[in-house]
Amino acid sequence: MNLQAILLKHWGFSSFRPLQEDIIRSVIEGNDTLALLPTGGGKSLCYQVPGMAKDGLCIVVTPLIALMKDQVQALKSKGINAVGIYHGLSKVEIDNAIDNCVYGDVKFLYLSPERLVTDMMRTRIPKMNVSLLAIDEAHCISQWGYDFRPPYQRIAEIRELIPNTPLMALTATATKQVVVDIQEKLHFKDPNVFQKSFERKNLAYMVFREEDKLNKLLKICLKQSGTGVVYVRNRRRTREISDWLQQQNVSADFYHAGLTAQERDAKQDAWMKERTRVIVSTNAFGMGIDKPNVRFVVHMDLPDSPEAYFQEAGRGGRDGNKAFAILLFNDTDTDSLKQFHERSYPPLKEIKKVYNCLGNYFQLAIGSGKDQSFPFDVFAFAKNYGLDPFLIYAAIGFLEKEGYLASSDALANPSRLMFMVNNEELYRFQVANPRFNPFTKMLLRSFTGLFTEFTRIREDDIARRTGMSKEAVYKTLQELHKMNILHYKAQNKRPVITFLEERLAASDLRVSKEVYRERKLFARKRMEAMIDYVSSETKCRSLFLLAYFGEKGKNRCGQCDVCLERNRAGVSTYEFNKVLKSIKPVIISEKHTLETLLNGMDLMLPEEKILNVIRYLIDNEKIAEDEDGLLHWK
Ligand code: ADP
Ligand code: MG
Repeated sequence: MNLQAILLKHWGFSSFRPLQEDIIRSVIEGNDTLALLPTGGGKSLCYQVPGMAKDGLCIVVTPLIALMKDQVQALKSKGINAVGIYHGLSKVEIDNAIDNCVYGDVKFLYLSPERLVTDMMRTRIPKMNVSLLAIDEAHCISQWGYDFRPPYQRIAEIRELIPNTPLMALTATATKQVVVDIQEKLHFKDPNVFQKSFERKNLAYMVFREEDKLNKLLKICLKQSGTGVVYVRNRRRTREISDWLQQQNVSADFYHAGLTAQERDAKQDAWMKERTRVIVSTNAFGMGIDKPNVRFVVHMDLPDSPEAYFQEAGRGGRDGNKAFAILLFNDTDTDSLKQFHERSYPPLKEIKKVYNCLGNYFQLAIGSGKDQSFPFDVFAFAKNYGLDPFLIYAAIGFLEKEGYLASSDALANPSRLMFMVNNEELYRFQVANPRFNPFTKMLLRSFTGLFTEFTRIREDDIARRTGMSKEAVYKTLQELHKMNILHYKAQNKRPVITFLEERLAASDLRVSKEVYRERKLFARKRMEAMIDYVSSETKCRSLFLLAYFGEKGKNRCGQCDVCLERNRAGVSTYEFNKVLKSIKPVIISEKHTLETLLNGMDLMLPEEKILNVIRYLIDNEKIAEDEDGLLHWK
């Protein structure tokens, strides 16, 4: 099968990236396949190409609605028939979409794991001609993973409905344990993993213990050319830091999930097009963003796991040119990370309490509420029940992963408007203010009932009909609002909470204490690994991360802060060569222990320097060390 032709025809790329083709061939031959490629490695194509190569429909399971929408959009723009099903769509829309998957020629169906296992899907999936079941972010299936989502664990049930369809699992981060777990939980027929090394040769990892992080950041921004990302935990700080950088004449902007979609798009776009050089952001930034020439990624706070760090830092240097991944920390950070961890795993009874309060707040009877959405103001809610907003976020996050709730701003309330004057008064207004005439006339033509009730409008449509820009439409509506001619309620971007299941009595929430305790423990281990990462002053940063992900036998990177420090350990080139010349012939002819080697040398050099050179030669695989600690030349 000519896969290259498919790649070129639909995506316009002339060649596959490393491992892509192997992965694609593996599923096309009918094998269950786990693909482990770093972020940006091109996982989507691994299921999209087979989806196009084979007859029938490829079902893609993914937990992130925003990414789901992007991907569906991207496929559609290539003329490929793709649909996504997410909450916020009406029943009719969902029904239609599924019908098209059964009878139509849909090539890709994107779903959340909760949706996949609903009865509705179970009865319809056997009627579909499913060529491939692709599970994105597959690490979510593992309780040991850093982003466990219980609904993933039920995916295997769906396999029984389509027993001859191969399955592909994809993830960017998985430790050895998780790799095994994913294959077991998804009922792989045979173990089958394609894994690209996590080594990033062009990325220099740096850790700096800094009391004055801001000044260090400024130095970094001034020293490095090119675009950068600065990650901070707190939304307010994104703005403060970006303002401060601007005052120091660094082109900067800020970004977080609390901004409107419009603002976010504009900021992201300016950064992609390099009108903004440095973007200061929470971890909301970066998912699905693919900018190859990011030259530095700075973390101002400690991420809570090496997985998260590797993913965020890994956004640097996608083009293969040198880039820096820099982490600034001080002792207060390790403490606040520990606190953050504690607070992110509140006691189960607190989570149940929040769940209960939510049900009461939205006035849901036990057994009702499934698929209903409610606008949600966390601060009003917190005040109402005397709860800590942080606890609420943590509890909702937890309930979300368990598949009880979904929270998002995807369901923003549409804009509405209504006239505050009657027909006659409007007429008088039009006579007095003729410049508004075309606009108000168009409103009256386009919408009925404007005098009697709030009517949904879309600023986009109005812009198209009037030929005005969207901004001009907003401005005009606001002007008319101020003049009390109409009442304009702009789109409401408050987050929305959707109940994915009927409201349960809090005591019926299915969360076992053991599971919860274990999960918290794994999270603590990840946090501790992160603290080890920054505290270690002797282990190559790259080797540290690779070992964490279960990769052994790699060389030290030679460019992280630890390696550079070691290189600086006071050995001049002259001294280096002197040591090299004298030990090489000795260990070529026979094996030595470190001791006999040192004893046999009389170089008039401090032992520490000689050791440095030997260490270097070992790390760079010139000298090998066998199990008995004997050294020999390779
Ligand atoms: P991942 O899911 O592994 O993080 P994506 O599937 O989002 O990565 O792909 C990242 C980017 O790489 C996308 O912009 C995609 O178009 C691009 N890409 C993937 N494969 C290729 C290829 N073979 N040639 C060129 N670009 C590719
Ligand atoms: Mg992806």
